[in-house]
Amino acid sequence: MIDCILVQMKKRIDYELELRTTKKQMEEAYLEKNRAFARLEQIYLEIEKKQIELMEINSGLVEISNTDKLTGIPNRRFFQEKLEEQIELYHKGETTFSLLIIDIDHFKKVNDTYGHQIGDIVLVKLATILKTQARSEDIAARLGGEEFVIILPHTDVDEAILLAQKVNQEVELAEWTETGSLTVSVGAATFTEKDTEASILKNADQALYASKENGRNRATHFSELP
Ligand code: GH3
Ligand code: MG
Ligand code: MG
Repeated sequence: MIDCILVQMKKRIDYELELRTTKKQMEEAYLEKNRAFARLEQIYLEIEKKQIELMEINSGLVEISNTDKLTGIPNRRFFQEKLEEQIELYHKGETTFSLLIIDIDHFKKVNDTYGHQIGDIVLVKLATILKTQARSEDIAARLGGEEFVIILPHTDVDEAILLAQKVNQEVELAEWTETGSLTVSVGAATFTEKDTEASILKNADQALYASKENGRNRATHFSELP
């Protein structure tokens, strides 16, 4: 009888020991789980931070690839994107838009007389004038060399002619300390049903050519050509 009780007690102690060990293991596992969660949270935060940094780098790269290095205004690439957008909007039933191509008169002479560095200063200054003159929706960009462009959304032939003439006036009236004076010739075109990206550029270019032929420092709209 006494033997039997002793056996029972030992079993109980063993159970209790086992229970305590299991409880301890559970507590340790629980702590480990909490530590792992904290680590995971830290990793999530780091990933989020890296993602934001990557997005900032990306938008910086997009900005660089759309900007003209010398003048800081949008470049040909950006202009082409915006032109495509305008054409899409036109076909969706929006009002028409116009385009101005602006080319400095006798710019080669500026370089030859004052040097390439002054030529660069003149380009930067002209870009600033065009950007300042552009309305909030307009997009002024440098096409390359001494050629600039302004997209004029919601602008018909008459308004485009007025704005083109305004470019001539603004440039002529600006203070050109480095060169004494500077003028530009402007070619304007307005998008019509039969136009494409290539044709509106070609039309504005033809109008610009006419401005050059007729004495420079003037604006011509494609619709005025014979
Ligand atoms: P036009 O009145 O017929 O337009 O004559 P132009 O002399 O302005 O035109 P032309 O095409 O003969 O010469 C353009 C000059 O622009 C030649 C080139 O060296 C200069 N040019 C192009 N890009 C740059 C630039 O980034 N900086 C400077 N300083 N000059 C440039
Ligand atoms: Mg040119
Ligand atoms: Mg020129």
